[in-house]
Amino acid sequence: MEKEWNFDHSYVALPDFFFSKQDPTPVKEAQLVIFNEQLATELNVPSLPEVYVGNLIPQGAFPLAQAYAGHQFGRFTMLGDGRAVLLGEHCTPTGHCFDIQLKGAGRTPYSRGGDGRAALGPMLREYIMSEAMHALGIPTTRSLAVVLTGEVVWRERGLKGAVLTRVADSHLRVGTFEYAARFGNQEHVKTLADYAIKRHFKQLEGAPHPYLKLLQEVASRQAKLIAKWQLVGFVHGVMNTDNMTISGETIDYGPCAMMEAYDLKTVFSSIDKNGRYAYGNQPEIAMWNLARLAETLLPLLHEDAEAAVGMAQGSIKSFWDIYHQHWLSGMGRKLGLATIGTKDEALITELLELMQKHKSNYTDTFRLLTLEQLEEMPLFMTDEFKAWYDKWQARLFTVEKQSKEDVVKLMKASNPAMIPRNHLVEEALAAAEAQDYQVMEKLLVALKNPYEYRSDQEAYMKMTTELACAYQTFCGT
Ligand code: AMP
Ligand code: MG
Repeated sequence: MEKEWNFDHSYVALPDFFFSKQDPTPVKEAQLVIFNEQLATELNVPSLPEVYVGNLIPQGAFPLAQAYAGHQFGRFTMLGDGRAVLLGEHCTPTGHCFDIQLKGAGRTPYSRGGDGRAALGPMLREYIMSEAMHALGIPTTRSLAVVLTGEVVWRERGLKGAVLTRVADSHLRVGTFEYAARFGNQEHVKTLADYAIKRHFKQLEGAPHPYLKLLQEVASRQAKLIAKWQLVGFVHGVMNTDNMTISGETIDYGPCAMMEAYDLKTVFSSIDKNGRYAYGNQPEIAMWNLARLAETLLPLLHEDAEAAVGMAQGSIKSFWDIYHQHWLSGMGRKLGLATIGTKDEALITELLELMQKHKSNYTDTFRLLTLEQLEEMPLFMTDEFKAWYDKWQARLFTVEKQSKEDVVKLMKASNPAMIPRNHLVEEALAAAEAQDYQVMEKLLVALKNPYEYRSDQEAYMKMTTELACAYQTFCGT
């Protein structure tokens, strides 16, 4: 079948309050850096660098920039796509429609002081991280292509400009609702809520209390998502409400990174001075963000304000229950426990506390427990750990009488051998900056099957050095 665009424009059918028509700004020279053939095949879209850099608008596209607001580090701001252009919703032969967005495609009415552009490093970083998250089984926006623009973008210094093509179930954010509530009226919020239901929660169409159920569904998807982040040690870094989707996909890979030593206070972002978005805070921040979404929906929940607040609070509380249940069962699986018993949370917490105390690498601890390579971790040599280990083994093989084979199988399926470790990502980006893309391509191959424990992945599993501990990510994207 010939690959071709098949655009739908449901977003354009919304009132023009929600977007501005905006073409991408053409660039000097398109030069393809990486293209996701597998994703292109799934989507059935052609490979044409001129399209993915914004020089050629494909037939049937209706380029636009979306309006949204958001709370950034707790403060409300008007935002919008300052450097992104949505080409439209491409529908696959199986009828699933995805937003196709060019990030770094030039200025828009929402650019404020920005240049509308993006640099190669951060766009490749998003490509690597999002594809790794997808392979880890975590809902995320995807990356289809990164194309150099042949132009320089100025940050602290001159950098190579690039455009990333991002694919998403949608780009609706908590911040889109905040925009509708703050700058529009109740009718705008209702229109947007109906649109979100139509696009993501079709089962709610015509159901009683659709807006309460919308809130509950978003809370549930986010709860499951954040549990998955915590289980692999992903630190998003900038969980502003404009970076939280309604679809439940991870979005906006700016200053994100994978936790190394287990520490609830882990922060990588250089601009997160107070640790608002630290690893251990992510679930609570997600709840805070959902409260901002709930506020926008209050008038639609109940005509009595107090009753509406009660309903909203119930949904937000359900976030915590769902989150905790998913986190706990996920942690159990990481330790080979197929089901969770009454004493298991204490067992899990005890291990995590030991890891925190001994600054044990998060991924390596679980990987080496899976492989039973107990001689390789300093933590494993301590008496405290040995006491814990005996309890764990008794729980596995005496209390439950699980088979060894089943335990190892479950642990392998739950503990990735391969994650986008910070130093690996940095190495790949440094090589790409010098026009050597092979380091990144090899890394991407290894990241495709994180739970396989393959020999070609072993070279990537070396324990990290001090460099990694001082790792910082920057927002100058
Ligand atoms: P982010 O921190 O990536 O979520 O971005 C926050 C806001 O800043 C969004 O509205 C972006 O569109 C906007 N933005 C980021 N970088 C630029 C840029 N170079 N030019 C214009 N707007 C930008
Ligand atoms: Mg953003």
